[in-house]
Amino acid sequence: MKEITGTTYYQGGLYTPHAAMIQPAMFVRGVAGGLQSNRVSIFEQSPVTSLARNGETWRAKTIKGSVEAPRVILAVNGHAESFGYFERRLMHVFTCASMTRALTVDEVARLGGAPIWGATPADPMGTTVRRISGVGGDRIVILNRFTYDPSMEVSDGRIASVGRDHDKAFTARFPMLASVEMAHRWGGRLCLSRNDAPAFGEVDEGLFAAVCQNGLGVAKGTLSGMAAAELASGVGGDAAAFLGAEAGPAKLPLEPFSYIGANAFMRWGEMKAGREL
Ligand SMILES: Cc1cc2nc3c(=O)[nH]c(=O)nc-3n(C[C@H](O)[C@H](O)[C@H](O)COP(=O)(O)OP(=O)(O)OC[C@H]3O[C@@H](n4cnc5c(N)ncnc54)[C@H](O)[C@@H]3O)c2cc1C
Repeated sequence: MKEITGTTYYQGGLYTPHAAMIQPAMFVRGVAGGLQSNRVSIFEQSPVTSLARNGETWRAKTIKGSVEAPRVILAVNGHAESFGYFERRLMHVFTCASMTRALTVDEVARLGGAPIWGATPADPMGTTVRRISGVGGDRIVILNRFTYDPSMEVSDGRIASVGRDHDKAFTARFPMLASVEMAHRWGGRLCLSRNDAPAFGEVDEGLFAAVCQNGLGVAKGTLSGMAAAELASGVGGDAAAFLGAEAGPAKLPLEPFSYIGANAFMRWGEMKAGREL
């Protein structure tokens, strides 16, 4: 573990060969770039404020305009609920990450280990650590803490308090980088279901959902998007058949029981995670 990570914090690990680490922003921009053609338009910064059936088509309205289409794929993660779908079936869980500034040549040498690796904790409530290198330099990314927030919003205070936990996890693992501060902190929504099922399929005539990736957005989200495209274009396919056969997301208990229960479960899990956190 020390040879790979440079730290003596870890006593052991399970190595997964042939794995790849994706820089998510580059991935999303790469996909968008690949879609560029005279038949595809991407509208960024244009939240859809209503989506309603208009005769044979669906009309998605934004503040400045609207788009109509006979078939629409809803890929808005937990916000599917804001459009009136899967109500009381989606768990809006926030998690956060902090990323160090770029390490200097001297700090990289002091850290040692391999330039690129990722350590997923054995305990699901533990800390995920990534060592990245390339665009943006050599950095370490720390991710931990999960909270259930049905409002789909978190306060700045929460981000600050989670940031303190990130710093603790970072210092414990990398005492040789004590002078390295975090350059960025951010949080985001995971959409989970109680039974780990995706929210997928035709939810209304010509309206297809590809949401609720249960925290594995890259793998499950890509599959679910491909399957929704198969369904919407009427070609069918293995992915659509596979996801279509799954049970939908199970109903959640009433509030405040879900809020209290889910957060108590996660805090208990974090306590049990011990030094994995
Ligand atoms: C800190 C953090 C680290 C993570 N690490 C990993 C990881 O290592 N590996 C992994 O697989 N997953 C990871 N995840 C989970 C992953 O990010 C999500 O599962 C994934 O982003 C879900 O993809 P999605 O496209 O379904 O939804 P999102 O990425 O949430 O995209 C939904 C989009 O819909 C848009 N939207 C919502 N409402 C509207 C509206 N009304 N009009 C227009 N647009 C709207 C949003 O702006 C957003 O762009 C991580 C998540 C977080 C927060």
